[in-house]
Amino acid sequence: MSTETDAIDIRIQNETVSLPIEVLDRYNVYGPRYTSYPTAPEWSDEFGVDDLRRAFAAANAEDHRPVSLYFHIPFCEKLCWFCGCNVIINKDKEVAHPYLDRLKTEIDRFADSVDPSRPTVQFHWGGGTPTYLSPEQMRDLYGHTASRFLILPDAEIGLEVDPRVTTAEHMAAAAELGFNRVSMGVQDFDPQVQEAVNRNQTFEQTAATVAQAREHGVPSVNIDLMYGLPYQTIASFRETVERVIELSPERIALFNYAHVPSLRHAQNAFRRMPMPVGLEKFEIFRAAIERFTDAGYVFIGLDHFAKPEDEMARAQVDRTLRRNFQGYTTKAGSDLYAMGVSSISQIGGAFAQNFRDTESYFARIDAGDLATMRGMWLTDDDVLRSAVIERFLCHCVIHTKEFEEEFGIDFAETFADAIADLRAHEADGMVRISDDRIEVTPLGRLFIRNLAMPFDAYLRRRSPDAKPIFSKTL
Ligand code: SF4
Repeated sequence: MSTETDAIDIRIQNETVSLPIEVLDRYNVYGPRYTSYPTAPEWSDEFGVDDLRRAFAAANAEDHRPVSLYFHIPFCEKLCWFCGCNVIINKDKEVAHPYLDRLKTEIDRFADSVDPSRPTVQFHWGGGTPTYLSPEQMRDLYGHTASRFLILPDAEIGLEVDPRVTTAEHMAAAAELGFNRVSMGVQDFDPQVQEAVNRNQTFEQTAATVAQAREHGVPSVNIDLMYGLPYQTIASFRETVERVIELSPERIALFNYAHVPSLRHAQNAFRRMPMPVGLEKFEIFRAAIERFTDAGYVFIGLDHFAKPEDEMARAQVDRTLRRNFQGYTTKAGSDLYAMGVSSISQIGGAFAQNFRDTESYFARIDAGDLATMRGMWLTDDDVLRSAVIERFLCHCVIHTKEFEEEFGIDFAETFADAIADLRAHEADGMVRISDDRIEVTPLGRLFIRNLAMPFDAYLRRRSPDAKPIFSKTL
């Protein structure tokens, strides 16, 4: 901390920069996280199954573009009050049977529409809690998929696990099936925070799951943390960070808690609890960045950390890192085929999301159809802006000439309004703008969502008085 009360010192990428509190306050605005562009509120209910089928056909016509698969397993035994995922809470595991039946039917319908010679390079099970399933159900689901898609031997195969319900048998099954990445939620190890968010998970439970992954030879472990939760303080979160470093995961995701109680009603449980906001929340983030980078992790994009030898750190260096619905990915240039309730596919120039409730999802699958609820065809302008925002968020630099060659545009002319907005950010020390590039400064890394927003044509059209639909950027 600076001795000045009106500024804080931040050490990032071996540079110490001073950030005036007044600037911090100005950057604490509502804005998207840009796991997609255009963002989900812009998608249309008019996009339906016929559109998805057109996207399938167009993708097959491309020259063997690789395939990524995502399955959404929505079940959890207990609701964490902060949760922003589409979940179904049920301790009765019988509910998984009818769901898996529909999911396997959907897999068959997708597989019938994907050229079988296209290689699957990435396969991810998210949720919810995929290890809500029994090891036998996991084997059955995986086997069914492998019989329909060409999963490459070196594919990245990821599984989200919850240490509170994941057993040694689950991990053995995962390793045997070829899962080479496991990702586990922790959020915070502090007992008071855990009690407040309805997620009691001891350090020992987490350490045991990490140890099981290591014993079974799973090469990559990720831990999810969240800052901005009730009762968190800089000191308490420091303890959590130390304990995570002790576990030595290959990757860490440090998510900004998105407080949107009007959309996520369970978050109203926090109403009377002390929440770190503004400067205190930012200080928790800052302290965690400093400690993880001191411990040798590379700061990736918006909120990830990876060991320097990890593929994600290397992808940031060689500029192959990409942004997707799970955060960041190293598998550039593949189409994402997503199955299960609420899942989102990104195929060529289209986004398609399934129904979010199981009733509608089951009804569509049982009617012999696909379960598309909404989506969007990207326009040329969307594709261009999506690329600009994605490269900004992944590589922290935009090489303007690259875009001029790739998209046949005059960058300065096309983005005159965005560049004008970025000039104000330049004055705050967040970006450097030159003839051939727009580069995010070390300080700007912490505000990269804000810096991407000027390129968002939909946000630009929204009235400043409109009801906020995104969480705060800080
Ligand atoms: S375990 Fe994960 S998906 Fe389930 S409620 Fe908690 S945060 Fe949400």
